[in-house]
Amino acid sequence: MVLDDLGSSLRGTLDKLRGKSRISEEDVEEVVKEIQRSLLSADVDVSLVMELSDNIKTRSLEEEPPAGTPARDFILHIVYEELVDLIGESTELPLEEQTILLAGLQGSGKTTTSAKMAWWFSTKGLRPAVIQTDTFRPGAYDQAKEMCRRAEVDFYGDPDGDDPVQIARDGLEATIDADVHIVDTAGRHALEDDLIEEIEDIESVVDPDVGLLVLDAAIGQGAKEQAQQFDESVGIDGVAITKLDGTAKGGGALTAVDQTDSSIAFLGTGEEVQDIERFEPNGFISRLLGMGDLAQLTERVERAMEQTGVEDEDWDPEDMLEGQFTLKDMQKQMEAMNNMGPLDQVLDMIPGFGGGIKDQLPDDAMDVTQDRMRTFEFIMDSMTEAEMEYPRAIGASQIRRIARGSGTSEESVRELLQQYKMMEKTLKQFQGMGSDKEMQRMMQ
Ligand code: GDP
Repeated sequence: MVLDDLGSSLRGTLDKLRGKSRISEEDVEEVVKEIQRSLLSADVDVSLVMELSDNIKTRSLEEEPPAGTPARDFILHIVYEELVDLIGESTELPLEEQTILLAGLQGSGKTTTSAKMAWWFSTKGLRPAVIQTDTFRPGAYDQAKEMCRRAEVDFYGDPDGDDPVQIARDGLEATIDADVHIVDTAGRHALEDDLIEEIEDIESVVDPDVGLLVLDAAIGQGAKEQAQQFDESVGIDGVAITKLDGTAKGGGALTAVDQTDSSIAFLGTGEEVQDIERFEPNGFISRLLGMGDLAQLTERVERAMEQTGVEDEDWDPEDMLEGQFTLKDMQKQMEAMNNMGPLDQVLDMIPGFGGGIKDQLPDDAMDVTQDRMRTFEFIMDSMTEAEMEYPRAIGASQIRRIARGSGTSEESVRELLQQYKMMEKTLKQFQGMGSDKEMQRMMQ
């Protein structure tokens, strides 16, 4: 499907960025090119692709990653956000009484989707009914009836009727006890005036709450015109993409979503009534990019952005590299790490740390659990500016005062000072490693 290909190629490109702390313009170009190539070959509209790639390019080069976030993760976060923006949220479908009108060309999968959707609503505890108004396609009645029997949902149709509008009217009456009415309509091989007229007439009788356009995933550029026409005549709120179990790319459907300013409601993944999924953009994109924890990662980046966005004018990370590591620096480091999640995971995300460097550090240096961090924060809050700047000058009486003031123990204060000394020593080792740019970035 559309992003399958994107997933693997983009993963490859992004993996090349692993360990890099700064992203160059060429890196961004390469990522963007991969995205363009995949989307264009999947039939996504050219202007849409250009818009998406421009946004990714601009943001990757202009925005600053928050402290402790590797550049690769930051780009991934941007790509993810822009894709979510392009694909949009799932069409809103409250679990309550409603009437849904299905539109689409013949063979797109309308009839199948109507029964599948009814089945889906029934699993949510609602009572759905399918009303089949397709008098044009021979066999539509039998097919819908049989699928609704299998889905165990109410069905109305008239095998002898030839007036779809009348059938719709009668159907609503006959299924008055149902909560969700799903009205299937006739398609044609192409957009014809009489099809549009017919669906407009049905729409005025049915007065739907939701108009869904059913699109075969194989649809290409034709999606644009179709989406536009149906949107103008009956109003499209969402799209159901069918046959995603096949080899089709589905890019046209994305174009339709954009064209109608709508969203994706359902995905059809087979011929059986249960082969339907409610569209979930977050999970969908994460899965397609082959990164299960993408939503989580992106949340973490967002949180870090919000919380480390507060600039402290007195604190300059560069100072740490010039040998003046103070408790203030340690506090800032801890804040940044706290905002990013468990320390171990955070260290894995820091470029240069994933490999051997982490193992070379003394175990104790890393052994700052979340609880200890919280205690340390209380302690540091009780210290004076001078104590924060010159922790080595802190004596026994000060330790007593700080412990009392922070509601902790003298032992904890000593522990913090011990930790500070260890970090200072570790940092000195790094400084000894010379002008490794990656290390410098890491400390920011
Ligand atoms: P309609 O003319 O729009 O009502 O289309 P149908 O519902 O009759 O579907 C046309 C064909 O596509 C039928 O053979 C369906 O079984 C098949 N079909 C519909 N949805 C899916 C799907 O998600 N996956 C697969 N593999 N086939 C589907």
